[in-house]
Amino acid sequence: MPELPEVELVKRELSTVQNLKIERVEVSEKVRSGHNSGKLTIVKEPVDTFTDNAENMNIISLGRRGKYLYFILQNDDEVKYMIGHLGMSGAFFHLKTLDEIVEQNFRKHWQVIFHLSDETMLVYADIRRFGELRTIDRLGDFLPVVRMAPEYDDEGALEHFISAVKHPRNAGKAIKAVIMDSTVVTGAGNIYACESLYDSGILPTRKAGNVSVKRLRELFHSIVDVFELSLSQGGSTISDYRSSTGGSGEMQNRFKVYQRKTCPAGHNIMTRVIAGRNTFYCTKCQR
Ligand SMILES: [Zn+2]
Repeated sequence: MPELPEVELVKRELSTVQNLKIERVEVSEKVRSGHNSGKLTIVKEPVDTFTDNAENMNIISLGRRGKYLYFILQNDDEVKYMIGHLGMSGAFFHLKTLDEIVEQNFRKHWQVIFHLSDETMLVYADIRRFGELRTIDRLGDFLPVVRMAPEYDDEGALEHFISAVKHPRNAGKAIKAVIMDSTVVTGAGNIYACESLYDSGILPTRKAGNVSVKRLRELFHSIVDVFELSLSQGGSTISDYRSSTGGSGEMQNRFKVYQRKTCPAGHNIMTRVIAGRNTFYCTKCQR
């Protein structure tokens, strides 16, 4: 599942769609049949509402909040936000034809195509269809964003992190589960939670209420370091994640515990399911 660095990289790569107009929106049969059977497959509002809101709009700019990517759309004085989440296996591509998508799985599983004014297309492909697209009037209308912690590089993010972890509702939870909560810190999923806990020497199973403020500061700095290392490596390329251009990052080669057999100090890595995800850690380096 793409985490903050991967979504940030998608946003940067898609800057090529800025200043183009969405002339027509094409929606796949899978999305339509999902909607016809009462499921909001990918498009989280009526398909007609979505296409009406996006068509004839200019893409002014792109932004990211946590793991959400958004496009600011404008036509005269009308402004809309199209906000998307890549889910487990979503990917955007900006190209001239579907044939340019190298991976057959993504080419086959296109879900929404935005036909743009320069005869290119912005394609949203999603193999497992856990992704989301919707239009909203303001970011403040969208609850997950309203509840979200500050961005990791925002002023006050560290203070927010410490007070959110220390909140009584989190005291009895495993620290790993708490840092995967976007109201505590944005954008850390399973991989970067495992890596930052190793980096700061904290056991993922430790109760959040038992981690000192000094160690929480170290953990926050580890999360930032891991995000920034990943950004510099072009993100992680594992299982279903692909960047918008179909390229691949190198962060997976820098993992210290995630999907490793031994840690950098040569100890055996333990695995256990925490917060519903397979967690990798070292009982000698982490306490
Ligand atoms: Zn170790």
